[in-house]
Amino acid sequence: MKVTIIGTGYVGLVTGTCFAEMGHTVTCVDIDAKKVERMRAGECPIYEPGLEALMKTNIDEKRLMFSTKYESVAQAQTIFLAVGTPSSEDGQADLKYLFSACDGIASHLQDGSVVVVKSTVPVGTGHKVNEYLKTKTQKKFSVVNNPEFLKEGSAVEDFMKPERIIIGTQNDSAAQVVEELYEPFNRQLKRTIRMSNISAEMTKYAANCFLATKISFMNEIARLCDLMGADVEEVRQGISTDSRIGSQFLYPGPGYGGSCFPKDVKALVYTAKEQGMHLQIVEATELVNAEQKKYMVGKVLKHFKGDVKGKVFALWGVAFKANTDDIRETPAIETARALVKAGAKVRFYDPEASENFQSYMNSIEIPVDGFENKYDALSGADGVIVLTEWKQFRAPDFEEMKSRLREKVIFDGRNLYNTHKVLELGFKYYAVGKRIP
Ligand code: NAD
Repeated sequence: MKVTIIGTGYVGLVTGTCFAEMGHTVTCVDIDAKKVERMRAGECPIYEPGLEALMKTNIDEKRLMFSTKYESVAQAQTIFLAVGTPSSEDGQADLKYLFSACDGIASHLQDGSVVVVKSTVPVGTGHKVNEYLKTKTQKKFSVVNNPEFLKEGSAVEDFMKPERIIIGTQNDSAAQVVEELYEPFNRQLKRTIRMSNISAEMTKYAANCFLATKISFMNEIARLCDLMGADVEEVRQGISTDSRIGSQFLYPGPGYGGSCFPKDVKALVYTAKEQGMHLQIVEATELVNAEQKKYMVGKVLKHFKGDVKGKVFALWGVAFKANTDDIRETPAIETARALVKAGAKVRFYDPEASENFQSYMNSIEIPVDGFENKYDALSGADGVIVLTEWKQFRAPDFEEMKSRLREKVIFDGRNLYNTHKVLELGFKYYAVGKRIP
């Protein structure tokens, strides 16, 4: 099948590449000409394990093309809208990229074109896209909502083996086209679930808000553990054996970030307010998360009795989670901001997200120093703050750390280390809800 994907971010590029890998002919369109140039040359503009190799193969086999123009829409049976839907100032999703993508595709639509909304969009947007496009073309097209559930860091794997494929439309023939497109991903098990456009839109927000709530819930339990001397890691194991609770998303940390949870939580709260309803649990999830992002700095300030002027701290990890270069809403931003505000100096090391973090921090004028080696970042520092659970931070050379740090203190924002081991080695150790004897 011929497919056009509009927007080549984490979702669009992975979607396009994986469809091509399954044999479809895919053109990915982006307004960023430099990015398109790089992708044409086989270069992956984001860090996503396995993606670049797949891109190269499919470019070579002429199933994957890139363009800044929308012409390929005219030949495509399905046109995916996968542009960003960031938060506006007031929390609602900003749909300017989505409607500018509609402007781009409208004049190329044909009778029978299926426009698939892949972006996460507020409930009712599929309908608005339909109405908007109708004002721009006489052709008989249809709009399907097909929200994406991939996770950055394992996006290719998630896309290739989806847990579910939501097809939101009441138009049977459009649903069949999308189902046919996904057929290769359904071989072992039928994973498609059909529903209305509006339920598909709600499903995506409900899933993300539920997951964010799970994180905030665990973070609050961790804080209570800190106050009472229980160990949240023991508690986590204790509750995760209950199959009704499950074992995923129960890891306390420095607060959730990324391009999805923060904005989707805000957007659902906004949508509910528009309906005159307070979404109390989701609102609390956001509040708890905002506090959690300050939690590790609170521990730093307490350790230094409120005075960190002139002290130097090294952040290990600035990506919002492991295996990605995405720094959108990462807890590292708030951590660095608070430390610099208190008069400290901030350095950082991250295996993939350094460039993105440095340029973002420059843009908001918060001075931070990037290092190319995790141990070099520690030399002469007054403490290390672990913020991302990258594998390479999990079993570090503690002797090397000790020899580099001026003050032997670890603020473990991801609960990566064995408490007894680090204490025995002579570190002062702080974590999130772990009992420190
Ligand atoms: P992104 O910001 O990484 O990429 C968006 C891309 O769209 C950019 O390359 C931009 O240049 C391009 N673009 C903007 N306007 C365009 C236009 N008019 N024509 C062509 N290209 C245009 O976005 P993302 O992280 O891939 O997210 C896309 C959507 O998918 C969002 O709604 C997001 O909520 C949702 N989503 C994201 C994830 C994730 O993990 N990132 C997971 C599931 C769903």
